[in-house]
Amino acid sequence: MPFNQLYINGNWTDSKQSDFIEVENPTTLEIIESVPRGNSLDVDAAVNAAFDAFESWSETPVSKRIEFVQRALDYVKTHRDRIREIEIAELGAPHQWAEMAHVETPIKRIESFIEVAKNFSFETHLPSAVVRREAIGVIACITPWNYPLGQVVQKVIPAILCGNTVVLKPSQITPLSAYVLAEAFDVAGLPKGVFNLVTGKGAEVGNALATHPNVDMVSFTGSTEGGKEVGKLALDSVKKIALELGGKSACIVLESADYEQAVKGVLNSCFLNTGQTCSAWTRLLVPKKDLRTIEKLLVKTAQNFVVGDPKALSTQVGPLASLKQFEKVKSYIEKGIEEGATLLFGEVPSDYTSGYFVSPTIFTNVNNHMTIAQEEIFGPVLCVVPYETEAEAVSIANDTMYGLSGAIYGEASRSREVAKKIKTGSLTLNDGVRDILAPFGGYKQSGIGREGGHFGFEEFLEVKAIFDYDKQNSPS
Ligand code: NAD
Repeated sequence: MPFNQLYINGNWTDSKQSDFIEVENPTTLEIIESVPRGNSLDVDAAVNAAFDAFESWSETPVSKRIEFVQRALDYVKTHRDRIREIEIAELGAPHQWAEMAHVETPIKRIESFIEVAKNFSFETHLPSAVVRREAIGVIACITPWNYPLGQVVQKVIPAILCGNTVVLKPSQITPLSAYVLAEAFDVAGLPKGVFNLVTGKGAEVGNALATHPNVDMVSFTGSTEGGKEVGKLALDSVKKIALELGGKSACIVLESADYEQAVKGVLNSCFLNTGQTCSAWTRLLVPKKDLRTIEKLLVKTAQNFVVGDPKALSTQVGPLASLKQFEKVKSYIEKGIEEGATLLFGEVPSDYTSGYFVSPTIFTNVNNHMTIAQEEIFGPVLCVVPYETEAEAVSIANDTMYGLSGAIYGEASRSREVAKKIKTGSLTLNDGVRDILAPFGGYKQSGIGREGGHFGFEEFLEVKAIFDYDKQNSPS
């Protein structure tokens, strides 16, 4: 599979220009691959291929579309080890975590969309109307680096199953696993133009996609800043927009909680994937009277996280994905100290000669108005914010421009009551397990729309109401 080419109209194709983007291993700092720095001419070729393929693909029976995706899934399954090795190398994901979060989860997502497609009703009958759900057209899928294949399949698979055609622009930092998916579609014999891959930069390929006249929908996952830019560009020609953006989610520990359980849960959420998870619970809201007890538990538990070489089976926390991310996280840790928060665990990272490592970090006595409590750090940094009353905890949890995720630990019925008051797209109560069919997405500036399961599937469909005189007046 040629990492130095693009996949357009069913062919591995040279980019229209000769620049490449280097992909760096964030552990060894070696350049492991180079992918084309695509441009607007490449976007044009890919969008036109997708446009030409749309009519026939959208008219292909859904059962047939499922067969193609199933064959691609079979291919992905036989390349599990290769995908894991790619994510260890391009993202710095630790071996076991890479296997679970970056290989098995994307596979489960593809399987779940196939099930949704099998059972989806594309027509609803009202008393005097038929409502049809139809493919939209050409979908531009723009994805981030933190869950490379996972974010790609959340968009590409439902879009294609719904009968749309796709141009994918993966993140320039972690573009490699998207090539395995392209290869899977190629081997599956997906008709030409249904799936296209154009690598490159956001401001170049991303912008060209968002403004292209033949793109009908832009499905973007990334930063709130990037989402706003893409959204504005796409809205200029009133394209459908779906945005999955940043978060600063709160984990509320009620007085009735099992503190040990809560501490374990929040540290896993905040530190795994090296804190580079949009839905991570990065603010821990704790009863002020028990702050010391919880701080001791946090330190004791944080000490057990194994930071190191992502290739080692015992490693839980690898490096950050890039120098940019390292510098960003480092500057937030410095900012936290400068703002007067107490550094309970961790340190200011000194250099990155042996990889972009930042050890897990916990700030306590954080005021929710501090920068570190308001802005998305996207590294393994937890902010502990004490509260006096439950009402204050709710108000702190909601005092953010984001609303993506969150958690509550405490007595079951109390937790459910508090859950109703939190403005967020999803909430975990007492270690509840995420359902792969549940919708994922954000309130407020965490996004527009939902991904996953039936809700995520519907995002890639238009709705048409038909009022049929003959049907309305037929005797039956
Ligand atoms: P990013 O916004 O920098 O980039 C995301 C993608 O958009 C990349 O492919 C990038 O090249 C492209 N892009 C960036 N700016 C663009 C522009 N102006 N026009 C067109 N394309 C543009 O985000 P990132 O750093 O890759 O990812 C981290 C962010 O993603 C975090 O904020 C995280 O919270 C968010 N995220 C959200 C979800 C979710 O489901 N809500 C999931 C994963 C990551």
